[in-house]
Amino acid sequence: MDTSGLYIHVPFCRRKCGYCDFYSKAAASLIDAYPAALEAEMEESRHYLPSPAERPQLATVYLGGGTPSLLSAGQLKAVFDAVHRWFDLTPEAEITLEANPDDLSEDYLASLEGLPVNRISIGIQSFIDSELAFIGRRHDARRAIEAVRRCQAMGYDNLSIDLMMALPGQTMKSFDQSLSQALDLGVQHISAYLLSLEPGVPLHRALQQGRWQEAGEELSTAMYRRLHERLTASGYEHYEVSNFARPGFRSRHNSAYWQGRPYLGLGPSAHSFDGQNRRWNAPDLAAYLRGDFQRQSDHPNRTERYNELVMVRLRCLEGISLDELRQTLGQDLHDACLAAAQKWIEARNMHIKDGRLVIDPDSWIVSDEIIRDLMLV
Ligand code: SF4
Repeated sequence: MDTSGLYIHVPFCRRKCGYCDFYSKAAASLIDAYPAALEAEMEESRHYLPSPAERPQLATVYLGGGTPSLLSAGQLKAVFDAVHRWFDLTPEAEITLEANPDDLSEDYLASLEGLPVNRISIGIQSFIDSELAFIGRRHDARRAIEAVRRCQAMGYDNLSIDLMMALPGQTMKSFDQSLSQALDLGVQHISAYLLSLEPGVPLHRALQQGRWQEAGEELSTAMYRRLHERLTASGYEHYEVSNFARPGFRSRHNSAYWQGRPYLGLGPSAHSFDGQNRRWNAPDLAAYLRGDFQRQSDHPNRTERYNELVMVRLRCLEGISLDELRQTLGQDLHDACLAAAQKWIEARNMHIKDGRLVIDPDSWIVSDEIIRDLMLV
């Protein structure tokens, strides 16, 4: 059966974190109008997903942001009611809510009962208060720990947390402390990203003003290696460059992105993919609320599709199926890929197993370099 994913962007944050350039607004007064605007886009876009059925089947729904946990239970119910009106959900659908630890009070979690959310992804980033304060997070370590424990006590058995590496002031010792705390919480999934700053975000300006110093390549590499060693030693599968899961708890929604499956994105700045082409809404909440999505689209040519395949699949444990590469993009690009990979295979950074070209997880720290080398200009 053909199934797809639905991404719902919730473009509200109480305040902006210093490193973030995702599209979101501190516009609490507009949240009430948002579920109806989402439903308008659902109705308009329900046939975007390739589906033999009148109502597309969704295997995953992901509410990301922004801060989806700023939606009240009533607003979330309105969103899910709309989803049920326009789509079918598979019986085992994975339904994720991204949440800020500060929002996960006992009352809030209790109010979610009856909603179909079965996975919560909590943006924690660090368990060190000084690091959290510097990057402008609104929670501290204690509240983050309490939020996770509260979710567990409420019966959520598919929890993910986000961590960050190379934060201002972060040392190997403090990163180890954050890792120990994460492991102690026993969540099912951990995502961990190296801090990366777009020009213009407050932390980037602070860096230029000399208010903090970057971690440097040696420390960043050491943190990434420690992350891999400690989490895999504790039973997590390192299944994507930045993602770790207990067996059976990979993010199905994100895995579908990485496998090139179709998804529909709703909300300002949300991207969609129909299996061939991409489109996206403008990052403009005011226009979106008027039903003006200001869409743009991209129809990638063969080379661009090859580059995307290399960029996304080589970040995953399963790598690239060489048969699929040949069948979808042609023998010439298959051969070009293998020719470029040869030196990395000889250097033992990559290998071919069961017809798949894979970057060895020990070499994921240099995956950007390998991927750049395999991409075509
Ligand atoms: S809460 Fe998330 S989306 Fe909002 S500003 Fe912070 S990092 Fe960005």
